[in-house]
Amino acid sequence: MAKNEHYIPFDAESVLGFAAPYLQGVPVSAVEIGDGNLNVVFRVHGESGSVIVKQALPYLRVAGESWPLTRHRARIEAEAIEIHNKLAPGRPAQLLHFDDALSALVLEDLTEHLTWREALIAGQEIADVAESVGRYSAAIILGTSDVILPSRQRRTLKRSFVYSELCLVTEDLVFTAPYIDAESNRYVEGIADRVTELRRDRPLRAAAAELRFSFKTRDEALIHGDLHTGSVMIKPGDTRIIDFEFAFFGPSGFDPGVLLANLALSRLAHRSSGNAAFCRFLDTCALAYWNALVDEMRRRWDPSEPWYHRFLAHLLTDAARFAGMEMIRRVVGLAHAKDIDILPIDARVEASTHAIDCGRALILGSPVHHFDDLWHRAIGEETR
Ligand code: ADP
Ligand code: MG
Repeated sequence: MAKNEHYIPFDAESVLGFAAPYLQGVPVSAVEIGDGNLNVVFRVHGESGSVIVKQALPYLRVAGESWPLTRHRARIEAEAIEIHNKLAPGRPAQLLHFDDALSALVLEDLTEHLTWREALIAGQEIADVAESVGRYSAAIILGTSDVILPSRQRRTLKRSFVYSELCLVTEDLVFTAPYIDAESNRYVEGIADRVTELRRDRPLRAAAAELRFSFKTRDEALIHGDLHTGSVMIKPGDTRIIDFEFAFFGPSGFDPGVLLANLALSRLAHRSSGNAAFCRFLDTCALAYWNALVDEMRRRWDPSEPWYHRFLAHLLTDAARFAGMEMIRRVVGLAHAKDIDILPIDARVEASTHAIDCGRALILGSPVHHFDDLWHRAIGEETR
């Protein structure tokens, strides 16, 4: 029987039976918790404890059923969790079960965690998160690269991770749509003129096309592919990564670029709200992320190797450019940074405009040589 004949989208009733084997006692209730665009996510309670069930939908949710997608991403997510968990043990939310026919994952429920984005929006200063994510980034960038992995092993791994349909979504939403008059674009009215300028900005459009080409062709590492602050769940003392469905073999600088861009967007939001002290905290987060990444690479890779420094220099330069793309798309494209969207209108316009200007500076500026250069461009000011 064809696989998709088994596929039934869960509802709050039918998900109970599916989750039952992973719960203590009989399943009691299920609530949909996802705010995602591609999947349904349920929290299913047993007599004691709970689990998360994430099921892929056969279309992109925000666009309605008009944007069909295959459900292959559920398998990608399950396999990426396994591989990243080997490289960075305990960092991904733990996978309890994967059902290919139903395109559904059962995950441990991180009941006490909240997303890093929500914590940053709330102004919570939770220590060590940035460092943990930096070490995770280093572990997967290096651990799935040709630097470390023997060729044969790497070729086998690569076969499971083709350039997926979700890569096409990224291609469109990050590298293309913001620079054309795409229907999917959304932005606050007050930046309409600035958005029109993007479409006439030939150097920027050329750079975006070049970065899209890099994204498609540079299969350097099995990256997370969507490492924004909403893909990190935190509680004091524990940092977890979620949402691996965009994982693919892509450029190493993409994840660090996306992560740093989202920290910078949070900082722009806090600056426009007048929260200077929290801006300082975000400066320390960004630096801690990068320093941890560098330190973890040094730990995993003999630093006397002459290539090491050039590898890192290249990574930083790439991260800066991908960060620029992420900053622009999160205020112009389909999926926005909530940090900025929830601001009062004047602050939102100001932060969105800065995001475009800072993004452009990251993309078109001369190659960055130091982390501070990247960060200063991303936030549009000197931090000391
Ligand atoms: P989507 O890809 O559809 O956005 P996510 O994997 O990002 O789905 O999950 C959507 C939301 O569900 C997350 O933002 C988070 O709030 C919650 N969530 C996801 N996984 C877990 C988990 N293991 N434990 C607790 N909450 C989770
Ligand atoms: Mg997702």
